[in-house]
Amino acid sequence: MTASPKQTFNIISLDGAAATGKSSTAHAVAKSLNYLHVDTGAHYRIICYHLNQKSIQALENLELLTALDSFKIKTLLSENSVLFEINETQVEPDDLRSYTVNTLVSQFASLKPVRDFLLRYQRSLVDFAKMHNFKGMVVEGRDIGSIVFPNATLKVFLEADAKTRIARREKEGHMDVINKRDTIDATRKLSPLTCPKDALNINTSLRSLDEVVSIILKEIAQ
Ligand code: C5P
Repeated sequence: MTASPKQTFNIISLDGAAATGKSSTAHAVAKSLNYLHVDTGAHYRIICYHLNQKSIQALENLELLTALDSFKIKTLLSENSVLFEINETQVEPDDLRSYTVNTLVSQFASLKPVRDFLLRYQRSLVDFAKMHNFKGMVVEGRDIGSIVFPNATLKVFLEADAKTRIARREKEGHMDVINKRDTIDATRKLSPLTCPKDALNINTSLRSLDEVVSIILKEIAQ
């Protein structure tokens, strides 16, 4: 009997602060490799949106636990990107990037029940990806290389200077509070935003999207 060739499944983690270029980069890398693209920031935003709709405060209490327990989760595929759905509701992109969600999301993301809920969900996406015949995933967020997938095949950490990041958000036309979010994200006790020791660090301030993507593709090809 001949042994079947070992199937490898690659995970590329892409972490970084707000507006460092994670989403465009993750999307382009995933498209180029035909990997599943997972935007974990969207997961936190969707949870935040639903909890806020229920007037739930960002506090670790019974109300929060009951609400999380009641959420019916569905994972859909839109081309090669994951669409995370709660209670069969598609939240409009503008509602996910609203000023309200921007100001609240990091507070909800600091809570253990919220992080535990999404950690389980995000790890389960490996099976989802394999079921849909993807050979790998590109996962963007804050704690992907450090906590969610510490054994990722390639860990990337994106940085950009403050001026560039603010200009990017202004261009997108969204009211954001990136400094406030970054401070909460980097200083919280659980899974803070951090550059994993073994990550490839790329400063995107003066690089085009194509340049950043090609650095990552070269690295994964090695
Ligand atoms: O990536 P994005 O800016 O959409 O993320 C929104 C927020 O979600 C972040 O500011 C952070 O508070 C939270 N987040 C997180 N861990 C992740 C991804 C996002 O805490 N892996």
